[in-house]
Amino acid sequence: MQNLLELDREGLERFFVEVLDEKRFRAHQVMKWVHHRHVTTFEEMTDLGKALRAKLEQHAEIVVPNTLFDKPSVDGTHKWLLGMDGGNAIEAVYIPDKGRGTLCVSSQVGCALNCTFCSTATQGFNRNLSTAEIIGQVWVAARHLGNVPHRERRLTNVVMMGMGEPLMNFDNVVRAMSVMRDDLGYGLANKRVTVSTAGLVPMIDRLATESDVSLAVSLHAPFDALRNELVPLNKKYDIETLMDACVRYALRKKGESVTFEYTLMRGVNDQIEHARALARLMHEFDRRVQMKDAAKVNLIPFNPFPGTRYERSSADDIRAFQKVLNNAGLVAPLRRTRGDDIDAACGQLKGQVLDRTRRQAEHKKRLEAQGGFDAVA
Ligand code: SAH
Repeated sequence: MQNLLELDREGLERFFVEVLDEKRFRAHQVMKWVHHRHVTTFEEMTDLGKALRAKLEQHAEIVVPNTLFDKPSVDGTHKWLLGMDGGNAIEAVYIPDKGRGTLCVSSQVGCALNCTFCSTATQGFNRNLSTAEIIGQVWVAARHLGNVPHRERRLTNVVMMGMGEPLMNFDNVVRAMSVMRDDLGYGLANKRVTVSTAGLVPMIDRLATESDVSLAVSLHAPFDALRNELVPLNKKYDIETLMDACVRYALRKKGESVTFEYTLMRGVNDQIEHARALARLMHEFDRRVQMKDAAKVNLIPFNPFPGTRYERSSADDIRAFQKVLNNAGLVAPLRRTRGDDIDAACGQLKGQVLDRTRRQAEHKKRLEAQGGFDAVA
């Protein structure tokens, strides 16, 4: 049985032509039924003939994530806890704002990167999400919102900033993003789909050649010693190596900016010296890609979670930090904290991760085989 949510347009066309021996345009009809009208049975696809529907019953299925519960926040944010195979659960969060609606999507069950200030890290790593499980989050949110592409579009942006490191699940993330950007899928503009990474350098280069989306990089510190502590992946790809990759990305996507996320933690990375060093890094980036405002800083007040040793920076320190950046001529908006009453704010997504020890070992083996990141916890 083929779950149709696993396939992007190309895959679906191939499935229709090669497996079902049908015309390509049939794939397009079905794609619209699935992603525009949120239908899960072939019976409902009334513009398909009976014979084709019967064939589809036999070879295909439409399996969407199971909503364990969903919860609105007082500020309009909405969180879904979605059940995945093996008793795991992941979270997706919808954040409405003036003129746009952003869905924050997870890419893995747990995360292997161990960033010390992120609550997903405390869960350890279980496994990558499949394409169906990634696009399924968009499907669930779009259905809930009554989203109709080209008409009532409540879902305008997707950020791969939920649980997990999207670039460690490259193929499934890229395939799911292709459905997000497809007119037969969710019709989002390239710029409105963002991959956020802790800095997996080889995969940033691969992304530059294989997909047209916006890039956000979780920087959090302008000095290697500090970044080593906050984002252990920095020991493998230090700031200079990471900035080089960001420059290559921006040069390849002419005219596109890169966003640098910076979570502000009291007394850790929120002092004037940090702001000045960050401004220098950003200027250097603009200079190398020869574009003003090529680097955008996104300041995020730290969101606490049980057991964390960090605290949110004071309002005064946040203002002073931002002022240094603004005075240096940099775009550096402060991300408003949304959904923290339902634990849906950045870094608060935890889901539910079971049976992670075995999976962790498997994942580590796989990564080593790829010659990739070898410092997995
Ligand atoms: N692994 C990817 C995507 C997930 S994190 C990445 O690292 O970019 C999404 C964003 O939330 C990142 O910028 C991350 O650093 C930030 N974040 C993590 N924990 C946080 C916390 N406790 N408070 C505020 N932001 C946090």
